[in-house]
Amino acid sequence: MDLKELYRDVILDHNRNPRNFGRLDPSDAHADGHNPLCGDRLTVSLRMSGDRIDDVRFDGSGCAISTASASLMTEAVKGKDKAAVGQLFEKIHALLTRQDAVPDSSLGKLAALSGVREYPARVKCASLCWHTLNAALDKGAATVSTE
Ligand code: ZN
Repeated sequence: MDLKELYRDVILDHNRNPRNFGRLDPSDAHADGHNPLCGDRLTVSLRMSGDRIDDVRFDGSGCAISTASASLMTEAVKGKDKAAVGQLFEKIHALLTRQDAVPDSSLGKLAALSGVREYPARVKCASLCWHTLNAALDKGAATVSTE
């Protein structure tokens, strides 16, 4: 399967059937994110044990890319500590913004996000959930905007 097919299949699947959709209540941390360019809004809530993400959910409303990206992210970061999430975010950011970035095998389905760089206007749709997650991890509660 080439990356274009992977992109289409993974985005469709996770948009139709988002994983970890909902809100943790109570949560240890949460943040709201807004991408005014597209109108995407989402909330990420976390349950932590020390530095590690025990559970993560997202909800909100947005375009297919923002929903699919958030769904993929929740699957990828559950059980990871802050340092591992930071490393993963670096890789995703490179994948979304650098034409020459090659997805490494550790990324699994997240590799599909490299398809987004063909559509520069949608990069913020895909990165919104990650910025929102970082805000939740940093502050416990916050609102972020991609602008
Ligand atoms: Zn969007």
